[in-house]
Amino acid sequence: MVASVRALVKNAVIDRIPGVLRRGPSTSRRVALTFDDGPDALTPRYLDLLDELGVLATFFLIGSRAEAHPELVREYLRRGHQVASHGYDHARFPKLSRRALLDQCARTDRALGGQLTGRSWVRPPHGSLDAAALVTLVAAGYTVAMWSLDSCDYSEREPDTLAQRCAPGAVIAGDVLLFHEGQDWTLAALPRIVTALHAAGLECVTMHDLFAR
Ligand SMILES: [Zn+2]
Repeated sequence: MVASVRALVKNAVIDRIPGVLRRGPSTSRRVALTFDDGPDALTPRYLDLLDELGVLATFFLIGSRAEAHPELVREYLRRGHQVASHGYDHARFPKLSRRALLDQCARTDRALGGQLTGRSWVRPPHGSLDAAALVTLVAAGYTVAMWSLDSCDYSEREPDTLAQRCAPGAVIAGDVLLFHEGQDWTLAALPRIVTALHAAGLECVTMHDLFAR
């Protein structure tokens, strides 16, 4: 209970900080699918599946993995997806010095070969962020991209349960859904999730497009 109140307060604060994105406008019938922690061996299957479903998504990539797989970075972009930063080695941002944090972000941006947006987007690993890290990022011109609905696919491995968590009703217009790469169960749940969202009249777009004015 205390934890959930704390989360509500934290989200209410985050929603008022310029440079931090969490939930898109509810005025258009759109939601964003986002996938953290790639690229990895399953990335081609994620990309093929999203092609089959006819949807675009945003991928928050780990810099060291992007550096090791430039061909996969190109492939996300070739298929029209948005790529953004998820730190260089998935270290928690509050544990890094200011200089180390900015260095991680710069190295990751180089590995991504530049981002779609004018301001580089970054999603903190584990969603872990304190005031110092937030101020450092926003002052350096980064957009901090959080999420509004966690599929919890890092702990929940049952595709049916994942699909229920991300069903229309639980998901509303403007939501940013959090998923992870490298997981068979996430792949198994996605067709059901996207089909149900489409049936409810919700379009799945990149996070960039969700927030574009
Ligand atoms: Zn992550």
